[in-house]
Amino acid sequence: MKILFEKADILYGDDLEVVFNGYLGVQEDKIIYVGTEKPTDKYDIVKDMSNKLLMPGLFNSHSHAAMTLLRGVGTGFPLQEWLFDNVIPIEDKLVANDIRVGNELAILEMISTGTVSYSDMYDRPVAQMEAVKKAKIKINICRPIIAFGPEEFPEKSDRFIESLWLYDNHHNTEEGRIRIDLGIHAEYTSTEASVGKYAIEAKKRNANIHVHVSETLKEHNECKEKYGKTPTKWLNDLGILDTNCQFAHGVALEDEDLNIIKEKGITVIHNPSSNMKLGSGFARINKMLDMGINVTLGTDGAASNNNLNMFEEMHLAALIHKGYENDATVLPAKTIIKMATVNGARMQGRLDTGIIKVGFKADMIALDFKKPHLIPNINYHDSVIYSAQGSDVCMTMIDGLIVYENGEFKTINEEKTYKEVREITERLYEVYDGKKR
Ligand SMILES: [Zn+2]
Repeated sequence: MKILFEKADILYGDDLEVVFNGYLGVQEDKIIYVGTEKPTDKYDIVKDMSNKLLMPGLFNSHSHAAMTLLRGVGTGFPLQEWLFDNVIPIEDKLVANDIRVGNELAILEMISTGTVSYSDMYDRPVAQMEAVKKAKIKINICRPIIAFGPEEFPEKSDRFIESLWLYDNHHNTEEGRIRIDLGIHAEYTSTEASVGKYAIEAKKRNANIHVHVSETLKEHNECKEKYGKTPTKWLNDLGILDTNCQFAHGVALEDEDLNIIKEKGITVIHNPSSNMKLGSGFARINKMLDMGINVTLGTDGAASNNNLNMFEEMHLAALIHKGYENDATVLPAKTIIKMATVNGARMQGRLDTGIIKVGFKADMIALDFKKPHLIPNINYHDSVIYSAQGSDVCMTMIDGLIVYENGEFKTINEEKTYKEVREITERLYEVYDGKKR
């Protein structure tokens, strides 16, 4: 199958150069042509993209997708109370099928707002994969380890065993759309024994490790009191940072932590909505970027956001650091677009996507610029970051397959998912459409 997009404006190549009124050809899962001259070869489908921008699809670098079922739970509480008093009691009621449905709901939201790939930390990965396979979206799944006391031996922990089983049996499957990362929930939910053992297993596999690090000052300082070192130093001493490691949040990271992060080539995932909603603070993203650290963007789960809309994260990231630093020149639009696209792809270990260029995977979105809030469009990069909304996405293509177009979902039955979500919601909260029964 060959598809030609014509009369398209395109954010092209490594530096997101704008190609005006161009042509973009896709064959099977790859981009085979980009240019201003009409290609001479024959295409099966030709799509008129007048008034539309084609740009790389978005990579949501940190999520807990099934938490769409807990959208907004614990609003108004700081992280520890939000998690232990509000979120976990509801999560304890979730069964495997809920995880599938929660992921389907998340995927509907993500593909209709331009996300083509997400990195997700949760449990019941088999149920999650069921949703992902059907949807044809890309994902890096991690099933995190958790251990609360020295009596918990990693070898006997279900989480530890399942995490490694998942990697050994499902990494790089579904034509590479599904990749598996290893995961540690956080320092405050781990023991030295389990993390040390996990580091050995990760190195054997050359696996990525995804972990929440220094999300709040409280957690950061409690680690220093307990071990006499920061969470970053603690993870480093246990061997975790010798792997391809990814830190979610990094709000309370110190200068010495940043030096270690730079030296070890660790990615930091910025989640501005979640950090502000939970009152966690502002990660020092401008400094990290100046140091050459790979920084990506994520939504975190829907309980602390409350949505999975990467346009909102891009917009917030662009704004809050300018305000925080008193400097309008920091985090320019192109930098933010790269954080949400190619930087995320690299973090996930996907070297063939995140950029529109020939030979790369056709993971793209189209934005409809014939909207009042996008006219006039003086600069595409600024319009994408400061004016565009997730709802301006009119097409999402993953591996050359259109999964969403003009409000229509091609791989997931939207109505069936909403019905299943309603049934689960009734069970979890004993409410229906927001009202107590
Ligand atoms: Zn998280």
